[in-house]
Amino acid sequence: MADDPRGVLAEALGALSATLRHHRDLGVTHLPLAGRYLLGPEEALREQERALQGCRRCKLCEGRRTIVFGSGSPRAELVVIGEGPGAEEDAQGLPFVGRAGQLLTKMLESVQLSRDDVYICNAVKCRPPSNRNPEADELQTCAPFLAAQLSVLQPKVVLALGSVAAQALLQTREPIGKLRGRVHPFGGAVLIPTFHPAFLLRNPGQDYKRMAWDDLKLAKREYERRRTR
Ligand code: URA
Repeated sequence: MADDPRGVLAEALGALSATLRHHRDLGVTHLPLAGRYLLGPEEALREQERALQGCRRCKLCEGRRTIVFGSGSPRAELVVIGEGPGAEEDAQGLPFVGRAGQLLTKMLESVQLSRDDVYICNAVKCRPPSNRNPEADELQTCAPFLAAQLSVLQPKVVLALGSVAAQALLQTREPIGKLRGRVHPFGGAVLIPTFHPAFLLRNPGQDYKRMAWDDLKLAKREYERRRTR
């Protein structure tokens, strides 16, 4: 599929005509050819990030230095989602740049993926104080911004790191040990949960490492199966 530009174009035109029919059925008689409708993914994400600046919608704004929006390729079809920025991410304004981030880079490389092949972001965009888990109200407040990011990225595969991200995205309370190792339907994508790299750093045994590698291989397999680019 990735090698067949005509197939990709046909798919895009099919999606466009379905969207236009849907608008017509809703009674829309004309579409403005300006404004946000025609933004490509780079500009759309930049616009979303710009619109979030100065956000004070939840209490995480009190202690944060930077809103950590996301990084990587705006055209990535694999999106990696963690729970929330830590101290280093808050200082640099980029996700997964501390110790856990270095391990994440190695985890991706173990299945021949680089950070530039994927898009990386978090369930909440601001650092929770003392690196505690984000609370339910904070996750809920930030959820529309993650959803907006995903609606631009249109990933084929989502890799959810740790129980907080996996549970929030799948709307479940099942523990990560039960969620991982499986492919979960997620809208037009599939979601693969795995252990958070910070958990792997705290629990350096071979068993968790092996399970995480199995999850990475599963994510890579689904990505190769589903990617169009
Ligand atoms: N942990 C996360 O969940 N996200 C980051 O960006 C860094 C550490």
